[in-house]
Amino acid sequence: MSDATHDNGQAQNDDRQTKTGGCLCGAVKFTATGVGGDHGVCHCGTCRKWSGGPTMAIHVEGMEFENEDNVKSYVSSDWAERGFCQNCGTHLFYRLRDGSMTVVWAGAFDKNDGFSLANEIYIDSKPAGYNFAGDHPRMTEHEFLKSLGMVE
Ligand SMILES: [Zn+2]
Ligand SMILES: [Zn+2]
Repeated sequence: MSDATHDNGQAQNDDRQTKTGGCLCGAVKFTATGVGGDHGVCHCGTCRKWSGGPTMAIHVEGMEFENEDNVKSYVSSDWAERGFCQNCGTHLFYRLRDGSMTVVWAGAFDKNDGFSLANEIYIDSKPAGYNFAGDHPRMTEHEFLKSLGMVE
């Protein structure tokens, strides 16, 4: 997605940026636009199984890939899919299948310092042995689904 009023390459007024990233083996490289400034953390069982730990991911508005043939995606629910490198298995993104939301795994960016921690979801699924420090919203599964209007 391009915006003719921002074609001089300078940062936009808000804190959303364009960032590059890729996988461990180098087979996948991407450019993400509209990258948010903070992580969301998800402790749900699907994320912990897929990621090997809690998900730390950042909202983006768009992603363009070099060598998109090397990106595979796993349909993890009726509404979402999870993308990874078919060669090295690096976790890249989660997106709603209707295209309305994409998040990118923090470690997939070439530089992932500078992101703050916005919130944690599925806090009631978190194993007891670790905690993220800091004062930020922590939502249970029910609180999160309620915020989306999916449950009462
Ligand atoms: Zn790879
Ligand atoms: Zn999750």
